Amino acid sequence: MGWGDELGRHEGHVLRVFADGRFGGGVERGGIPVYAANGLTETDDRGNSVQVRPAAAVIGWRVACFHAPGYVGDDNLAVWSGQPQLWTGPTFWRRVYSPAEEDLGAGQICASLSGDAGDLCVEDRDDAFELMHEEWRTHVVPDEHTRSIRRSLQAVTDAVHRVDLEVDAARVAGLTWADVGKAAGITRQAAHDRWGPTSRHPAAGVR
Ligand SMILES: [Zn+2]
Repeated sequence: MGWGDELGRHEGHVLRVFADGRFGGGVERGGIPVYAANGLTETDDRGNSVQVRPAAAVIGWRVACFHAPGYVGDDNLAVWSGQPQLWTGPTFWRRVYSPAEEDLGAGQICASLSGDAGDLCVEDRDDAFELMHEEWRTHVVPDEHTRSIRRSLQAVTDAVHRVDLEVDAARVAGLTWADVGKAAGITRQAAHDRWGPTSRHPAAGVR
């Protein structure tokens, strides 16, 4: 259970953290499967995790994101190429063992030792999970802005190209440069300078 962005380029998750710095995933065989350094599960031939540690070995949580290294494909389709990168959030969410010690503002979450691996599923705790989601959002938001800018610039380029095609069609239909200029709110000469054969198609020569 995690979060995704609009394009599916970012996949946010909460990882469990072990004392040796390794990350772990959800519940498997009553314990916590250990991830490889790249954040992916190491599995054997049968699809089982290579290593499962007891719930007691988890010392906390960290927000993580798996995402494509760069923009591939276009803005309408996220294409993952190569190995996904692992981003981890700045907060180490420390495990505390009694409810009295819990302090979400200080990054402390209670999961008692007497509980089972399921108690480590902070995904089931709306309050903590919402704070973690916020952390992931701050990672994704800059990407959304740059994508917005790029998408808008592309729309401008597309629109300019469409006008060029419409002017071509108008000329083929017999409209004069004066007609085109009038439609564009500029002079005949300005229209010719902008869309005429020597400005847009210098190699084509005089038409
Ligand atoms: Zn990401």
